Amino acid sequence: MFECRKCGKCCTLFHMFPEGDSIREALDSGDGICRYFDRESRLCSIYESRPIICNHARYYDEYLKDRMTCEEFDVFLNTFCERIRSDDV
Ligand code: SF4
Ligand code: SF4
Repeated sequence: MFECRKCGKCCTLFHMFPEGDSIREALDSGDGICRYFDRESRLCSIYESRPIICNHARYYDEYLKDRMTCEEFDVFLNTFCERIRSDDV
């Protein structure tokens, strides 16, 4: 089971999305950091109503459940998270 450690790093990488990308347009505050990211607590200020792209359980149910198992998605999330936390991005 994937467990987010709440480091906040994946909320600060919108500069890596292409210019004009709809997710970047909606969330980037201008410096790559999400406009809903609380920079002090490093937590999401709209957690309960965060977009589906930020909610892995909802994203899985909506888009992936017919294409991969929960276990496969957990492996993907763990790999993605570890890379983000270890890379100097
Ligand atoms: S990088 Fe991983 S631990 Fe950090 S906030 Fe994102 S999912 Fe959670
Ligand atoms: S909406 Fe919340 S969870 Fe999603 S990137 Fe922004 S701060 Fe992070």
